[in-house]
Amino acid sequence: MSANNKKPGQGKRILLVEDNLHNRRIFAGVLTHYGFEVEEATDGAAAIEAAQRFQPDLILMDLSLPVLDGWEATRRIKAIDGLSDRPIIALTAHAMSGDRERALEAGCDDYMSKPIAPRQVVAEVCRILGLERD
Ligand code: MN
Repeated sequence: MSANNKKPGQGKRILLVEDNLHNRRIFAGVLTHYGFEVEEATDGAAAIEAAQRFQPDLILMDLSLPVLDGWEATRRIKAIDGLSDRPIIALTAHAMSGDRERALEAGCDDYMSKPIAPRQVVAEVCRILGLERD
């Protein structure tokens, strides 16, 4: 196998925070396909724990989550020493409701509005991490 066959996500860790099983399977599936190592969390408190343990290169953060919502989980992760520089992409369900502005205020670096095509997620993750994607 030549170096050109290296998958773009190889060696990169993504924390996927999403309480919807269907979305989680789709996003985890496509990210894994592109070589990323994916850890999943299904609520905001679990996201904070996983961020510290798994040390992801990037976090995909659903905003509407049980236990602790995505805005508060983002605020707390961004306040942790050594994690404040990890890019967090908010996954917003309602484009018109002010969720985006609140996401950026909470410290998210970027946002995408659902429904999101899986390949679009990969493209955005690669763009933010500066990875080559063919
Ligand atoms: Mn949700």
